[in-house]
Amino acid sequence: MTKILITEFINQNSLENLNKKFDVNYDEKLCEDEKEIIKIIRDYDGLIVRNKTQVNSDILKNAFKLKFIGRLGVGLDNIDTEYCKNKNIHVQPATGMNADSVAEYVVSSSMSLIKKIPMFHNGTIKGEWPRTTIKSTEIKQKNLGIIGFGTIGKKVAEYSSKNGLKILAYDPYIKELNDKEIDAKLSSLNEIYEKSDIISIHLPLTDETKNMINKSSFSQMKNKPIIINTSRGSVINESDLIEAYNKNNISGFALDVFEKEPIKSEFYNKIKPGMNCILTPHISGVTTESNIRVSDFIVKKITDFFN
Ligand code: NAD
Repeated sequence: MTKILITEFINQNSLENLNKKFDVNYDEKLCEDEKEIIKIIRDYDGLIVRNKTQVNSDILKNAFKLKFIGRLGVGLDNIDTEYCKNKNIHVQPATGMNADSVAEYVVSSSMSLIKKIPMFHNGTIKGEWPRTTIKSTEIKQKNLGIIGFGTIGKKVAEYSSKNGLKILAYDPYIKELNDKEIDAKLSSLNEIYEKSDIISIHLPLTDETKNMINKSSFSQMKNKPIIINTSRGSVINESDLIEAYNKNNISGFALDVFEKEPIKSEFYNKIKPGMNCILTPHISGVTTESNIRVSDFIVKKITDFFN
């Protein structure tokens, strides 16, 4: 019987469906024990992971039978895809299955930050009643710059234009926008930095995108924008971001992803009460609904693959 190893959490109902067709070993804590994965991977035909399992060459060189890796989410930076290609292992992300969840996160955090909700909240719970000392603005007619205009970037554009935002999109791999539904203007990165009131990042982590948003980028931002990053922590230089906020070059930030996860004290110690920011533990793509969609999608793909 085909054997499947699952090293991170999956929706229960999807797991039961998988169990009917395959010999499944499900241990959602296994992602923390690379040595154990290296020891047992030789027995498995299929592997299902999220983003915590580092599917590196140490694991893959012992994966003698492995033919399929299912990724419960998108972003393949935790998988050595080159190695997989050479070994003819099919890698399947759940593209689009959590896009609505991420887009909702971007809309809600941009709304909160432009309204300075974290600052008002902090002042109010301290009894300061900062009704006139903190100024907030409306989102309507503001410029939203989207960096990386793929599945999620486009979804964010769709949601945000309905709220009256004007969309600028940067993606060098897109030459023109065919989709009449999306009201966005393809722009250069400089134009995004100069004109945006909010910048939302939807890049894959690659050699090219690592550290792409840095001191030089922040120095070009004219409108003190809000920065939202739901993609991968390493595309932004975190120290430069905090410096830009402290120098008032940006007016707030929402981070769902970090260079090191879980977040380390060297970073969170720089976050002070009263800052206009929202920090979350890599959850923008994980909701009850998206977990079902992502899990069902990968279960269907692995089932089709081995049939
Ligand atoms: P996607 O592949 O559909 O889109 C990525 C886009 O980025 C593509 O259009 C690509 O052309 C563009 N791109 C690549 N290199 C670029 C560069 N140097 N400059 C500008 N654009 C570039 O992926 P997606 O589904 O939209 O997801 C985007 C990323 O979001 C994923 O790679 C993943 O890391 C992250 N993500 C995070 C969560 C979360 O829970 N926080 C959930 C889903 C996805």
